[in-house]
Amino acid sequence: MPDKIVINHATVRERADMLSFIALCAERGLEAVSIWGDEIDKVGEAEASKALAEAGLEVFGYNRIGPFDEAHLARAEAELERAARFEADHVFVFTGGLAPGERDLAAARSQCEATIAELLSIARRAGVKLALEPLHPMLFGDRTLLASLREANDLCDRLGEGIGLVVDVYHVWWDPQLRAEIERAGRAGRILGFHVNDWLVPTRHLLKDRGMMGDGVIDLPGIDRMVRDAGYRGPIEVEIFSDAWWQRDPAEVIDTAIARCRSIFPDACANEGALT
Ligand code: ZN
Repeated sequence: MPDKIVINHATVRERADMLSFIALCAERGLEAVSIWGDEIDKVGEAEASKALAEAGLEVFGYNRIGPFDEAHLARAEAELERAARFEADHVFVFTGGLAPGERDLAAARSQCEATIAELLSIARRAGVKLALEPLHPMLFGDRTLLASLREANDLCDRLGEGIGLVVDVYHVWWDPQLRAEIERAGRAGRILGFHVNDWLVPTRHLLKDRGMMGDGVIDLPGIDRMVRDAGYRGPIEVEIFSDAWWQRDPAEVIDTAIARCRSIFPDACANEGALT
């Protein structure tokens, strides 16, 4: 029975280009990958598509739309159309942080919502789903305007069809409303993905010191149960941004990640059925 494990290319991106990454996942019998537009650019779209097709790998998550500045938003339509060509299950929305000099959070949030609404209309035309991923509140200044599942659920409620959210344990594990908001997202059928890694104590860098599952303090089986209880039946996506793991052999990193997933999430890894 195949594992329902997806590796996000970012986990090994420093030492494996997209083509090597695809080969590593295919050799291990995985069925899907999560990919990055900038990594497609490095190897070329034709080569990337061909490698995926030959390996029989589907695209689960596509990273990403954003940050919300002029240059990136100008590329949004092309990026969403490319994600559609790759038949990605969903495309991540990365808002980026506050604009330079901005201190009015209410104004920043309302501008952010307006931008997401515009992106959603483009995504609907392109035929791809958008995924909101609330990031840890420590990243609010420079990397996100969306820092809780509650805000992500509220936004999805207001924006309607074609948008959902991703639960990344790194960003939401601390939240006292975690179970309630995961249930709420599940009731609305909007959980598009479940990202796993771990929170190390101490954490030396907010972006590049994520832990391998089992090495930190997050109750991974507990959050997995919440997501499954809420009806999510999609894969577990391993996404580890880590200077320490980036230095290691990509094959070893992926093998370690798969082994940890099998021991921490045995039921989820044994799930049958199509991706989401
Ligand atoms: Zn994530």
